[in-house]
Formats: sequence, C-alpha cells, structure tokens
Amino acid sequence: MLIAEPLQRAIEELSKLPSIGKKTAQRLALHILKSDESSVNALIQSLSDLKTKIRFCEECFNISVAEKCDICLSPKRDHSIICVVEEASDIIAIEKTNEYNGLYHVLGGVLNPLANVTEEQLHIKELISRVEKGGIQEVILALNPDTEGDTTSLYLIKLLKEYPIKISRIARGLPIGGDLEFADPATIGRAFIGRITL
Ligand code: ZN
Repeated sequence: MLIAEPLQRAIEELSKLPSIGKKTAQRLALHILKSDESSVNALIQSLSDLKTKIRFCEECFNISVAEKCDICLSPKRDHSIICVVEEASDIIAIEKTNEYNGLYHVLGGVLNPLANVTEEQLHIKELISRVEKGGIQEVILALNPDTEGDTTSLYLIKLLKEYPIKISRIARGLPIGGDLEFADPATIGRAFIGRITL
C-alpha cells in the first residue's frame, strides 16, 4: 500500500511514543488529518510549549513552570517532610490520594547497574543537601517495590541514617513490581497511612 509521505512520516513519529503501536499511530494520524486546522494547531502548540515552557523545579525536580514548583512554594504544605519518588508522574499519583501534604523529591530513576544508572545520574546529592540544610524531620521513601527500587531505598537509608531524622517507607499494599503510577489512589493512600518507620 502506498501511503502519502507526510502521512507516513506522522505515523512513524507517533509510533515512537510509549504504548502506541503502528495501528494506533495510523488511527491517530488519520484523525489529525481529518481534524480542523485550529485543533491541529492547538495540539502542535501544546506539544511545543511542553519543551519551551516546562522545566524542572530546582528544589525537588518536579515538573514546573517556574524555578520552584507550586508544591515547594506552597505555605500550606508541611515543609518538614520529604517524600522521595522515582519520577514526577509518581507525584501526580500520590497527590490524587489527598493523604500526603509534605514536599517531594524526584530522583529521576533508580539505581540499575545493568542499565548503567549510577548514583551520579540520580538526584541523590540534592536530596542529601536538602536534609543537611535542616528543618526536615521525616523522609518517606516511596520507590516502586521492585528489585531496583529496593536497592535504591537501601542505598538511601544508609546515607540518610547519618542525619537526625525519621526515615520511613510506604507500606507494601502495592503489588510487587507494580508501578506507583498505575496503582489506584486508595491503595497508595493506605500505603502512606501504614508507612513503616525504619
Ligand atoms: Zn519543587
């Protein structure tokens, strides 16, 4: 089947996105082709704004439009607790539970020697310097319950034990190897309430 080159290119680009197969990419491309110009432009603009207007919070590495994110700047949040997560998407999942009112720290991944992810590539130094600055009473580890998440948690516990703070870990209500991002808010909420002090 001969497909017009611009359509072919759009399908190729869309199929590079996670969980978009060739078939879905084709359906999306055809849908965009049939859409009116203003909605196509709105889509293009929103994607371009993602790269130009969004950055990472200089304090916690959450997605932000300013130097510091809304959570770090909010006086309503408890600034004495930091919850450590792998990715910014985990913050969205935790915020949905309404069970947590402290701050966050996004590591940007987990230690994974097989994929060459070492401590230097993660925001571990920045976490320690936040704790060193003082005012932090508790650090909650909320990494995914898989091998890499556990290894990273153990590594962080070793570093954090040097400081006079409470270290806790969310309870294991989550399925083993399950992603925080995909767990339902009630399960994550329970995991927070039942967190274990280490
Ligand atoms: Zn922040």
